[in-house]
Order: sequence, then C-alpha cells, then structure tokens
Amino acid sequence: MQKRHRVREVVNWVNLSTPLGLLVSVIGRAQIERGEHGLFLARHYRFPLPPAPAFTVGNVILVRLDEAKLARRPRLLLHEERHATQYAWCLGPAMLPLYGLAAAYSWLLTGDPASRNVFERRAGLKDGGYKERPLRRVFRVRGE
Ligand SMILES: [Zn+2]
Repeated sequence: MQKRHRVREVVNWVNLSTPLGLLVSVIGRAQIERGEHGLFLARHYRFPLPPAPAFTVGNVILVRLDEAKLARRPRLLLHEERHATQYAWCLGPAMLPLYGLAAAYSWLLTGDPASRNVFERRAGLKDGGYKERPLRRVFRVRGE
C-alpha cells in the first residue's frame, strides 16, 4: 500500500468516518470485505437510502450493484475512492453536511445534485456515471 493510502486509512479511522461507514454497512446488511488501498468494499447494500448504485463513507465503499453491473463500470470504484480521500481532507463526518450543501448548490443551479457539486466534480462526474447538466436558464449569461 502506498504511503498516501495508508495516511488516508489512518486519518479516516481517527476521524471516525470509516467506523461510521462500517456501521452503515451493517445497518444496510452489506457483505464487508477488504479492498485495495486500505478501502473496504461493502457489497449488496440493501437499505433504500441513498438511492445511488454506490456511495462512500470514510474508507468504506458501499455498493448496491451486483458483480456483473459493477464489472461494467470499472471507473465507478475509482470515483468512490476519490470520495474516501475527500473524507480525509474534510475531517471525516463533517463532509456529510458539506456534501449536502454542495448538492443543494448544484441542484439550485442546474436541477441536478451532482453537476455543480464540487465533491462530485472533483471525484469525476463521468466516472461516477453523471452527466453534466447546463445551468438553469435564469443563471445563464446572455449568449450561452
Ligand atoms: Zn460521487
């Protein structure tokens, strides 16, 4: 494991985001396994929220997709891994309200919670399966 992955792993344990992710995995009756780079993969997550094919809490990537669907989206785990790094930079669970604000800001501007969400953009919109939506008409500069 590279040093940066080890640092992220330790930071996300200390800031309690990884224990929170493991708790969410247990509540969602997921099957937890170790992944690469100090990550955990929580497969077959069953709780209905959030309605996403995958999401990340600390160093835990929770996946709703089955093996075949996940295999068809190889960049999705890279996207989710970038969110794990974001948890480390945001001091853990503090990322959750920050993410909520960023999603609300994006929704306000575009009608979509990801397009202008700084966390999703930095994690790679396309890798996460998002399409960038244009600004709402009211926010467009004349001529665009
Ligand atoms: Zn994402």
